[in-house]
Amino acid sequence: MAFFTESEPPRGVAQPVLPGISRIVARNPSVMTYLGTNTYIIEDASGVTLLDPGPPDPQHTQDIRAALGEKPLRRILLTHTHGDHWGGLAALQSATGLPVHAYQHSAKAGFTPEIKLADGDEVAGFTAIFTPGHAADHLCFQYLAADGRKILFSGDHVMSWSSSIVSPPDGNMQAYYRSLELLLTRDDDLYLGGHGPVLPDPRAMVRQLLSHRQHRERTILDQLKTQDWSVVALAAKLYDKTDPYLKVAAQRNVLAHLHKLEAEGIVRELEPATILPPGSVEVTAPPGEVQSESGGQVSVMRSDALRRFGLAA
Ligand SMILES: [Zn+2]
Repeated sequence: MAFFTESEPPRGVAQPVLPGISRIVARNPSVMTYLGTNTYIIEDASGVTLLDPGPPDPQHTQDIRAALGEKPLRRILLTHTHGDHWGGLAALQSATGLPVHAYQHSAKAGFTPEIKLADGDEVAGFTAIFTPGHAADHLCFQYLAADGRKILFSGDHVMSWSSSIVSPPDGNMQAYYRSLELLLTRDDDLYLGGHGPVLPDPRAMVRQLLSHRQHRERTILDQLKTQDWSVVALAAKLYDKTDPYLKVAAQRNVLAHLHKLEAEGIVRELEPATILPPGSVEVTAPPGEVQSESGGQVSVMRSDALRRFGLAA
């Protein structure tokens, strides 16, 4: 797939993106988060809006406050509750006293947004678009830029630099397909994602992402026609990854595809494998997207890697 790259961003300052829109790239670069999480600052007649507080890094929160300067922040929007977007929220709220606007049903245990958004709700010119798949509580936000272009703040649902991880149970492949198909019905001019640079011609990217997943699904089915597979062995067969985090991300995506096929009655789950195949890596949660979800995540991933699936009879 043809993704976009960018050079190392200036750290600690807001970079202009479009008229009225700037971003601060958080200091959490990794194989999963690219150069870091994008925190957007949007200024218009309704005041200053901040979208995604970023990771739980006091320096990032400090950078946000410095970038805002004397300008009062009016509201905080959140695309989803993964740690690299949500983690800095508490510190930002204690500094500003502001409530957060986020999807009404949080996927983060113990967290409930003060202002609950449903699909189609509007806040000061931002319209929430419910787009589960990467995360169960994912929202994109539609916005009309000062220059008249139709912007979609696309979070981690669609990004310019990479495809998204879909990691069950928070991630759901059926929902992800549907949320991609939803974006194909829209006429946004540009996407501003949770990581990476501006995405021009966004529907071309959405079509590629969808066909990439459909192709992956066919290759998974082709493999299942020859034998039953554990998640770890199938991911190793289909993905050419050497980075241990990316290997785990591949396993998460394969499991998400298998769940989708299972829900469609095409695949069934079998007794799990008992040992990891020789040469497979010790399972470690990838940074950013998944790492900070919960302490139990790694052991869940380890047992998920051993789950086995075959074609339904
Ligand atoms: Zn992210």
